[in-house]
Amino acid sequence: MVNDQQVPPPAERLALIDLAAVRHNVRHFVRLTSPARVMAIVKADAYGHGAEQVARAALEAGATWLGVAHISEALALRSAGISAPILAWLHTVDTPFAEAVAANVDLGLSGWELESVVAAARELQIPARVHLKIDTGLGRNGCPEDKWEAFVGRALAYQEEGLLRVVGIFSHFSVADEPERPETDLQLEKFRTAVAVAEDAGVDHEVRHIANTPAALSRPDSHFDMVRVGLGMYGLSPFPEQSPDELGLRPAMTLKTTIANCKEVPAGQGVSYGLRYTTQEPTTLALVPLGYADGVPRVGTGGPVWVDGNVYPVVGRIAMDQMVIDLKATGIAGTGKDLVGREAVLFGGVGMPSVDEWAEACGSINYEIITRISSRVQRKYTDSEEAGL
Ligand SMILES: *Cc1c(COP(=O)(O)O)cnc(C)c1O
Repeated sequence: MVNDQQVPPPAERLALIDLAAVRHNVRHFVRLTSPARVMAIVKADAYGHGAEQVARAALEAGATWLGVAHISEALALRSAGISAPILAWLHTVDTPFAEAVAANVDLGLSGWELESVVAAARELQIPARVHLKIDTGLGRNGCPEDKWEAFVGRALAYQEEGLLRVVGIFSHFSVADEPERPETDLQLEKFRTAVAVAEDAGVDHEVRHIANTPAALSRPDSHFDMVRVGLGMYGLSPFPEQSPDELGLRPAMTLKTTIANCKEVPAGQGVSYGLRYTTQEPTTLALVPLGYADGVPRVGTGGPVWVDGNVYPVVGRIAMDQMVIDLKATGIAGTGKDLVGREAVLFGGVGMPSVDEWAEACGSINYEIITRISSRVQRKYTDSEEAGL
């Protein structure tokens, strides 16, 4: 009726993203790692939280760099009007290097890309900004140690020609989430050596960086000039033995929907495909309209769902669109209570099940649970600071 005050219809499936939590977490890392800079890692649509929104919140809170895997992700942020330095580090022969150079996107390079990037820079007459990556032990991208000196030499020759600027030197840890393991020390040693080799060759870098979330939290000696923080910014812990709360972090994502059906069933009722679950006694089943098409892993049977003050495990298989919880463990079963329309929370928020519990139920890690929540789930942004919470 009042056209300019249209309220959007309630979302049926919602990933609620608390940007105040993101800012809180970023400030936490800024304090913890200062004077090192914080690069906010917003690859994969900010681990499912929305790259543009998270990037802006992170920059407001003191992050000064952004990091993504793909150049396409960096270009999307540029198109959104974000002008902060952005590093992208995973390329293919089909990567549009020229677009990246033209958009002032920093490029992480491991070897073969150097010539392609230089060709783009030559064409555009704009020097490329590059970060040279050394493989200190992860065995994925990064220049092997025995080729490092030659790689640095090639880069410096192009820099001499005005075709690029070596802005950074970087690497990536393999076991920083297991602080007791010795390999992190080894990687640090190799990184220091690689930096020294580059400096001796004449590299005048702005930033040396190797730390991810676990290293930012547990290894001050790994901070160098910048830390690259992903998981921690989303308020989750990289350490199985430490909760986000214990680390001073606030989970940013809540995943919720409403109960879509609720019914009393007798003993012997099979549930969901394969009938892998059968009710042992008369009970009440409630239908949660989220499934693997929404990004909840099919293997997550047993994962917790909060409804009406209680937490129930998912029973039977998780299907493409839906999953079922059995209410028998509480007093609700048999009372004829109808839960249709009640809020169902899979994770997030105080007193709610956690992403880590879902990771456990799925045999996975918290990173994967949040990142795979699909575009079928609407994102909504809240700001608990503004709400005075
Ligand atoms: C994803 C990624 C990060 C962030 O790791 P977190 O553990 O989420 O902090 C940092 N650096 C690189 C190269 C990455 O690919």
